[in-house]
Amino acid sequence: MDFDVVVIGGGPAGYPAAIRAAQNGLTVACVDGWKNRDGSYAMGGTCLNAGCIPSKALLESSELYHRAQAEFAVHGIKAAGVSMDIAAMQKRRATIVKTMTGGIGMLLKAAGVKSFAGHGKLLPGRKVEVTGADGAVQTLQAKHVVLASGSTPFELPSLPFDRTNILDSWDALEMDAVPKRLCVIGAGVIGLELGSVWRRLGAEVVVLEAMDKFLAVADGQVASEAARHFKKQGLDIRLGAKVTGATPGADGVTVHYTDAKGEQTLVADKVVVAVGRRPFTTGLLADGTGVTIDARGFINVDENCATGVENVWAVGDCVRGPMLAHKGKDEGVAVADRIAGRHAHINYDLVPSVIYTAPEIAWVGKTEEAVKAAGIEYKLGVFPFLASGRARAMEASAGFVKLIADKASDQILGVHIVGPMAGELIGEACVAMEFKASCEDLQRTMHAHPTLSEALHEAALAADKRAIDNVNR
Ligand code: FAD
Ligand code: AMP
Repeated sequence: MDFDVVVIGGGPAGYPAAIRAAQNGLTVACVDGWKNRDGSYAMGGTCLNAGCIPSKALLESSELYHRAQAEFAVHGIKAAGVSMDIAAMQKRRATIVKTMTGGIGMLLKAAGVKSFAGHGKLLPGRKVEVTGADGAVQTLQAKHVVLASGSTPFELPSLPFDRTNILDSWDALEMDAVPKRLCVIGAGVIGLELGSVWRRLGAEVVVLEAMDKFLAVADGQVASEAARHFKKQGLDIRLGAKVTGATPGADGVTVHYTDAKGEQTLVADKVVVAVGRRPFTTGLLADGTGVTIDARGFINVDENCATGVENVWAVGDCVRGPMLAHKGKDEGVAVADRIAGRHAHINYDLVPSVIYTAPEIAWVGKTEEAVKAAGIEYKLGVFPFLASGRARAMEASAGFVKLIADKASDQILGVHIVGPMAGELIGEACVAMEFKASCEDLQRTMHAHPTLSEALHEAALAADKRAIDNVNR
């Protein structure tokens, strides 16, 4: 079978590439080999099956449960005896995932993309060998191939996953009971989200993080504020704690780690290893394709996602850059446009980051530390949600918006939010910064009242000591 474009991988990088290529009038196939625990194939990759979507479903359920217990009374709602049905929560999560992954299949079909369930392997000459569940092999001939094979959880050699006691993030999303003692290894985005879910549902959660600094990728002020709230919620985050091994026993798993004081141990019922992800390229490339892989396992590409082999491209988690669904999606779409001879550009300086904890954390652009290190003269505007009428009404006044702008040009360099709906609010900052907005542009843009977005408006005003709803400091 001949196609203009064959995409290997149906995750958030691959399926948008396939759809856009079809929109561009090309004949397209999308090969995906994701298999659920029951052996069934599903489109959508990590994001829909074991990542973004199921984690957000559980974060929502567990947050509602927490709020019912901790916050309802303050609203005057009497809800004694609230309890959690974990099976019902997990059923909802599974239904959302099934609906969404089924939706991807429908989107591909509607766009005219031919889907193949099975393992895809690139052969020399842009041939793609597809092996289906029954072992049957078909060979597709492509003018262009897009590799979008994604990533997989990083396994610590000293703590191999056993799917019972030592879990990866996928297992941690599908637990059918709340463990009494949960140890999460890694205080990154995934570790914090999973730790929050099970903490809210009643687990005692210890998070072991090798680095001395909490959330080193985030703005320091935001990380400190978040750490304060996580501590209040009972997340026991231990920094400078490098896990070296674990031994399962009758009373649970003994986790061994070293910190400044020396060798330490703790006992947990379940251990979730969330120490990052590695690119997944197992069985993807036959000998002689010419596609190369770097020392960390990423497929080598240039700034346009070209692999250097004529008409072979790679996008998403299997190539350099942040492992985020939206980064992969934009790369997939951009490559499909480039294949069709259209212009495409990705601004890697403006990839937003969101951590869906409570309070939520989101940022785009440079941190204050980075601006300082670059020697840029800057001004800061901070607006606390305590001063936001909407946040107060929502009983969600923790956190703040912090805006960093160039002192000389007034251009916004970074926006950092910790607080309610931070992930939604950051969208405005992304648009503003993509248009190279100045602080004044945001100041002169009317924001509806009372909304959380006013906090961004006020932060822009505060950068020039012109905030209205907060004291100017
Ligand atoms: P993947 O989603 O991994 O998809 C790759 C697909 O290709 C898979 O279906 C795989 O089976 C298939 N495949 C691989 N090799 C082959 C082959 N040879 N033949 C056929 N098929 C193949 N990101 C966010 O932006 N926001 C979030 O909130 C977020 N939350 C997350 C929460 C968790 C718990 C996890 C684990 C991840 C989260 N991520 C989040 C990261 C996000 O899931 C990834 O960045 C995203 O899925 C990457 O997309 P991708 O298409 O590159 O790869
Ligand atoms: P992320 O890269 O955002 O998924 O975060 C993974 C986190 O796990 C990082 O903050 C790492 O420092 C941390 N980490 C990696 N290896 C270990 C280890 N052996 N013990 C504890 N934390 C670790």
